[in-house]
Amino acid sequence: TDLAAMDSALVQCRACTRLVAWREEVANTKRAAYRDETYWGLPVPGIGPADAELLILGLAPAAHGGNRTGRMFTGDRSGDVLFAALYAVGLTNQPTSTAHDDGLQLYHTRITAPVHCAPPDNKPTVEERDTCADWLHAELDLLAPTMRVVMTLGGFGWAAALRVLRDHGWRIPRPQPRFGHGAQVVLYGDHVPPVTLIGSYHVSQQNTFTGRLTPSMLEEVLAQAKTAAGI
Ligand code: SF4
Repeated sequence: TDLAAMDSALVQCRACTRLVAWREEVANTKRAAYRDETYWGLPVPGIGPADAELLILGLAPAAHGGNRTGRMFTGDRSGDVLFAALYAVGLTNQPTSTAHDDGLQLYHTRITAPVHCAPPDNKPTVEERDTCADWLHAELDLLAPTMRVVMTLGGFGWAAALRVLRDHGWRIPRPQPRFGHGAQVVLYGDHVPPVTLIGSYHVSQQNTFTGRLTPSMLEEVLAQAKTAAGI
């Protein structure tokens, strides 16, 4: 598919000097627990079908998660929480994902990120975000025909979604819709079908370990997204 072609081009991207250096340094030094593994160390493409109705937008791959396994959220604590919840609401075929070739399938759902390379401290710069937005634009072009809901994990994804949707012809109300867990707004445009934007707290350990985001809160917001997407 075109999406596969885009992903093949994406993994060769070296546009952000700082992130290229970091993703490779992490891949070469490794974490002790994974020292026998070969890290991916490249941009991490999105996962899930090209005709998804639901797009989940995170932040960026984790240094020892996606940057190690080559797949978004696979092999890290955030992913453990996310895949368990996706499975609970019927959007995946299995509740865990630990390796690139573990048989995971997503139903009706594509997961991607506004920044495709692992950043130091999980903090991309504004310049890196804007550089990687070209890839998000390209991905949105391919997903737009079926996409009905964009669900963002965290405020960074929310802001990135508003920017990219605006650039694709959806009108963003003023004042801008505010991010929050369960926040929901329908966006309209002249030549595009309505899209529902939904917010969820990010599945980071900072949120899940502290109970700011519980598994049931995540399942509820995913169920909300399914309903809005007509899945
Ligand atoms: Fe390329 Fe995006 Fe990675 Fe920057 S973050 S190097 S734009 S894939």
